[in-house]
Amino acid sequence: MAKKASKSKERSRRASKTRGTGKNAKASVRVLGSPAHEEDHIDGLRCSIPRERSDPLTRRCRRPEAALTYDDSEVEGNSGSNPGFDDDVVQDYVRYRMEEAMVFSLVWLPRVLLDAGLKVAEQPGWQTRGRGDVGSTKGVICHHTAGPKIGNMPSLGIVTHGRSDLPGPLAQLCLGRDGTFFVVAAGRCNHAGVGNWQGITSGNTNFIGIEAENTGVMSGPKADAWPAIQMDAYRRGVAAILKKIRANAIMCCGHKEYALPVGRKDDPTFDMGEFRSQVAAIMAGIAPNPSMIPAIDSTGRPTLRRGDSGDLVNAIQAKVGVAETGHFDAETEARLRNFQTNHGLVPDGIVGPRTWATLAS
Ligand SMILES: [Zn+2]
Repeated sequence: MAKKASKSKERSRRASKTRGTGKNAKASVRVLGSPAHEEDHIDGLRCSIPRERSDPLTRRCRRPEAALTYDDSEVEGNSGSNPGFDDDVVQDYVRYRMEEAMVFSLVWLPRVLLDAGLKVAEQPGWQTRGRGDVGSTKGVICHHTAGPKIGNMPSLGIVTHGRSDLPGPLAQLCLGRDGTFFVVAAGRCNHAGVGNWQGITSGNTNFIGIEAENTGVMSGPKADAWPAIQMDAYRRGVAAILKKIRANAIMCCGHKEYALPVGRKDDPTFDMGEFRSQVAAIMAGIAPNPSMIPAIDSTGRPTLRRGDSGDLVNAIQAKVGVAETGHFDAETEARLRNFQTNHGLVPDGIVGPRTWATLAS
């Protein structure tokens, strides 16, 4: 982990060097283009785009993600102190490059999830993120992150940017422990590897990947129960996607079912046959409503979550060991998840009847 952190520091240092800084007039020329075609990209990979697709003006590759590595503020800051460029020319060129940047095919993802009543968080740059575009979408591969036990979606950065041994994005969608879908990429992602499901062997091209936050451990200190709210969102999200692409429930599989040789992957830890039958029930409109957390407990205490405030929040903060501000903020939620984990509760970061009873004991 420490090694990874220092690598990413080095990467961002290289990236900022490539882009230049706002004060450096010379660097503003570099701002106009993405990293040189033959050079390493920010992710350390050689560009795979043929030379004829490189920009004739700069001979720099047109890979959309790379084309978006500059922003307007940097250009504006630079142009005034750069005698070689007229402001309008710079602005026009930047506009041309921005419009040219390709938006990938899966731009419908957030709308479809929102229409299914799910919580959605679009990540910056998701529409143009991908390892090229996807092919026709045939189904969904379900994954778990095997990430840290604490936090709602601590693996979001790795899924977005990749690991030292596998460049990102690693899935189009992330699913947090609280049931929020994070939209990471509209293009192709490195999530499937070698495998076969229903005769389809090009997983990255034909399947959408969903990485749900979970340690992937079933027993011992790292054991991670799936929160009901996360599983409910998983099933509904997959059902909505399959409906959109006009596929049946059989077209969602676990990575452990797709991957070859058999046994290469073990994610996700839950039973996929049961998952598919529940997805099918949702698609057919015959699924029971999700089990909701009651709004108040038997003693009248309200269910509280991030965004709530008041004296009861102070009481929670005192119990979980965070400064008593009366505002249920991200830190309170993180400490609460910790508390829930340590007390054998589902770490959903929500204070419902069971968590109230445990906090009070
Ligand atoms: Zn996987």
